[in-house]
Amino acid sequence: MKNLSLEPLPILAVDDEEGVLKSLVRDLRELNPIETCTDANLALERFRDTEYAVVISDFKMPQMDGLEFLETCASTRPECQRVLLTAYADLADLGNLINRAKLNGFLAKPWEKAPLQSFIRSCINNNYLLRENTQLRRMAWTDSLTQIPNNRYFWERLESEFSRAKRYSRPLSLIMADIDDFKKFNDQYGHQHGDKVLFKVAQSLEGLKRQMDTVARYGGEEFAVILPEASLEQAMAIADRLRISTAQKTDVHLSFGVASYPDNVESSSELLHKADLALIEAKKRGKNQVVSSKDLAK
Ligand code: GH3
Ligand code: MG
Ligand code: MG
Repeated sequence: MKNLSLEPLPILAVDDEEGVLKSLVRDLRELNPIETCTDANLALERFRDTEYAVVISDFKMPQMDGLEFLETCASTRPECQRVLLTAYADLADLGNLINRAKLNGFLAKPWEKAPLQSFIRSCINNNYLLRENTQLRRMAWTDSLTQIPNNRYFWERLESEFSRAKRYSRPLSLIMADIDDFKKFNDQYGHQHGDKVLFKVAQSLEGLKRQMDTVARYGGEEFAVILPEASLEQAMAIADRLRISTAQKTDVHLSFGVASYPDNVESSSELLHKADLALIEAKKRGKNQVVSSKDLAK
């Protein structure tokens, strides 16, 4: 199992007054590394490129107000904790505006070091917990051998894409793919080499898919590709591309079965069943080929 220990992230402090930033650095640097910026626009650019544990922003800045700044931060990286820094006198005016920026808290100027540190420390901890949760969720959905989504994620995704396709009357296709003669391959080259090939096949499929598609390890040497918005014909063309490229990039070839909604399909499990039948037919017809559920009727 992968080590969960996460890197500590820096704090970003944004204020148009250098003096305020200096004081924040003085009071917070013993917690986490702290970066400062006097220009909210530049700070946003930096925020997009770098992960921070906490962002502290002044309320009144010439480029944009702190709430607008933190609102953008919230939509860019929601797990980063947002703290508004403001003079006591402005607190009364802020009212409901504070919710808009999904603030985790605010600091009044001037502050005292000890409560400031304890507040920012709790923000850092919250950020850590959120990141840990995200990582755990990712691990629960990732197949450890191939590093692509696993069967559990496949079902979650298929269910949600199927309901979306049904609700908006959109096409949805599913490709099931299985490595040909993999047992022989393992027998000949050893299980460990087989594992490496499984990884390569997964990476090849993952690298070739369209951005909106999901490639998952269904189990064993079997993979599934969910293709939202793809008709049977489009999915057949994609499957053939996957077949040819993966055979070129690895030491094995695969057979593919393709089925689509709404072609006589009522449920996600029926979609899978039809793609499976097509895959079985591809094996029967000699492997290393793509068969669609429509071909079965012929
Ligand atoms: P077919 O062309 O009909 O699919 O033949 P096949 O040999 O690929 O299929 P079969 O179902 O007979 O055997 C599947 C093989 O896949 C046997 C099994 O050891 C191998 N396999 C499944 N999971 C893994 C894995 O995680 N690592 C390795 N190395 N092999 C695996
Ligand atoms: Mg096989
Ligand atoms: Mg198999």
